[in-house]
Amino acid sequence: MALAVSPSRLPSKRALKVKATQMNEPLQLKFRVGIGHDVHRFIVGRKLVLGGIEVSHTHGLEGHSDADVVLHAICDALLGAAGLGDIGEHFPNTDAQYQGIASGVLLKQVEQKVRAAGWSIENVDVIILAQEPKLQEYKPKMKYHIAGELNIDPASVNIKAGTNEGLGFIGAKEGMAAYAVVLLNKTENIL
Ligand SMILES: [Zn+2]
Repeated sequence: MALAVSPSRLPSKRALKVKATQMNEPLQLKFRVGIGHDVHRFIVGRKLVLGGIEVSHTHGLEGHSDADVVLHAICDALLGAAGLGDIGEHFPNTDAQYQGIASGVLLKQVEQKVRAAGWSIENVDVIILAQEPKLQEYKPKMKYHIAGELNIDPASVNIKAGTNEGLGFIGAKEGMAAYAVVLLNKTENIL
């Protein structure tokens, strides 16, 4: 049988937190890692946007949003690390409100969901695979853009780019791919 206790007599969450701190209850630092992967097909007649930065190229990427393969991989890595599912569940490609949307808007929303769940973002590491174009000059801009969207130090964002040595659909310039890994941390009372 449940005890009937007036809610007003229960200590607030904040009061409990203060009490825990006063009693020096042990805290533990938790870490979670997440991985993300995305692929889009090259088509003519669209801008190529990677890591939130417009990249000069003959082709853009096909997709419901701006098809920013880099930001999509990061979104999935963040959601995965926080145990919050995947980008398709949060932003269905059947939903008209995401038609042509800048993926930076989606990344920002993911960042807010992850922080609302109590997580801090430790770092983000990205691999971009494209036979063309060369991405070297764009990497610093992407790094700063992504760090800005995630409210973290640019030193915590790393971008690597490579070709696929001419192999497969990437080598054939039919499309490109991105992979991302993130680390989250959270401080919790053990008790
Ligand atoms: Zn995508």
